[in-house]
Amino acid sequence: MNYISTRDSDPVCGNVTSAYAIKNGIAENGGLYMPSSIPRLSDAEMTAMINMDYPHVCAEILSRFLTDYTYDEILSDALSAYSPAAFPDGPVGMKNCNGIDFLELWHGPTCAFKDMALQLMPKLMTRALKKTQEDRTACILVATSGDTGKAALEGFKNAEGIKIHVFFPEGGVSRIQELQMRTQDGNNVKVTSVNGNFDDAQTEVKRIFVDREFCDSLSKKGYFLSSANSINFARLAPQIVYHAYGYLTMVREGRIKFGDRVNVCVPTGNFGNILSAYIAKLMGIPFGRFICASNENNVLTDFFNDGIYDKNRRFLLTLSPSMDILVSSNLERLLWLVSDTARTTLWMKQLRETGRYAADEETKRKLGTEFCGYYADDSMTIDTISRYYRDHGYLIDTHTAVAANCAEQYIKKTGDRTPILLASTASPYKFSSAVYKAVSGTECNDSVRSISLLSDYTGTPVPAPIASVLRKEIRFSDNRDPGDLRKSISDFLV
Ligand SMILES: *Cc1c(COP(=O)(O)O)cnc(C)c1O
Repeated sequence: MNYISTRDSDPVCGNVTSAYAIKNGIAENGGLYMPSSIPRLSDAEMTAMINMDYPHVCAEILSRFLTDYTYDEILSDALSAYSPAAFPDGPVGMKNCNGIDFLELWHGPTCAFKDMALQLMPKLMTRALKKTQEDRTACILVATSGDTGKAALEGFKNAEGIKIHVFFPEGGVSRIQELQMRTQDGNNVKVTSVNGNFDDAQTEVKRIFVDREFCDSLSKKGYFLSSANSINFARLAPQIVYHAYGYLTMVREGRIKFGDRVNVCVPTGNFGNILSAYIAKLMGIPFGRFICASNENNVLTDFFNDGIYDKNRRFLLTLSPSMDILVSSNLERLLWLVSDTARTTLWMKQLRETGRYAADEETKRKLGTEFCGYYADDSMTIDTISRYYRDHGYLIDTHTAVAANCAEQYIKKTGDRTPILLASTASPYKFSSAVYKAVSGTECNDSVRSISLLSDYTGTPVPAPIASVLRKEIRFSDNRDPGDLRKSISDFLV
């Protein structure tokens, strides 16, 4: 299986191994790597997976995409990534509530779904360095608005042949997120706060990636820069697994028969999670429609309704911050799957130059048969958390609540009673201030204090990774102006 870029048809970017695609992250022509075809699973292969444990399902699926890795290599990495040490209650949880199957993806070390990919990706990356005979050390740079940074630190800590440097905006993340990062352990990690907002930090990190002179100086010291964001196929591939596993669990637990259709609802930001579910369908998992759930930054809702993607609008800060996004990078991969390289290249050029593009009628029709978009604002989000707790005793976080609300809107509008598998993307304790307010009606804006308040009020335990951070020692207090980040990186990469 070779990997090709979603843009141009330049043969230079045209045919690389999965190890090369994982090591490089983004194609040289600015496009995103995709497998040249999506492998199909037969019904016999899928039914054989119904009774497999998570790491084995992972190895079955990923070995079909990463064909320059052996099945045993992937299985061994999956067994250690999804071990009881990292996921004491098992890699995923499943809760049927209000007729919806909530696929809980937050039982990992940082209590959010990004762990599912970021626990495995570093292991695939370490192997990619060996397979491509890279003798330099990779340095992963991450600019984060909170959650991704911590999940990346947990995934990459102590990874062989790799270092990781995370930047977050000083004063721009919650107190608990700041503590999570500043107390990070591991022998290959560094955390720096940046004076400025998230955009300032991200813009500077992006500049550093393309600073030829700086990269050359690092190369002389034996390093190269790499990224861990969801444009890397190694972030997407592990996510295909849990959507398939979720479907197979519904079969195993007797709620559906194998072959029955299931709709999928995903709270969406960068479009990586929902795209992975779509790839699972292309592999053969009997998924029906994909409900793309957004918050008030509803660019995708508009796109699925009228075929026009337009990021020229106000950026809003909401209670579901991991979905506060106006450019959903992985949508490019969906466009490529349903249209072609030429059209995708054109639309991405228009997006870059004008912030807007319009899909043609054929693409719109194809998207419309598979996807639909809904959104929920903050008051709908709070109301949904409150109702699920009051009526079902089930505590959900703000992102999951956006999705639950959108699933309800979908059922009401279409009357479609096909079972729904819904991606529950974060522990309610990760967004405890908003969740506490929703269930108790009382404000508490101190994210540390709201954790114990939420636990006392609901009688539910604080997840261990969140409880333990409050006891850990601060390791990193590096603070820089944006112009000073190169110096901070150089100090780290000696
Ligand atoms: C990142 C994130 C999302 C959005 O996922 P995408 O793959 O970017 O669409 C949703 N919920 C939570 C809690 C997240 O951390």
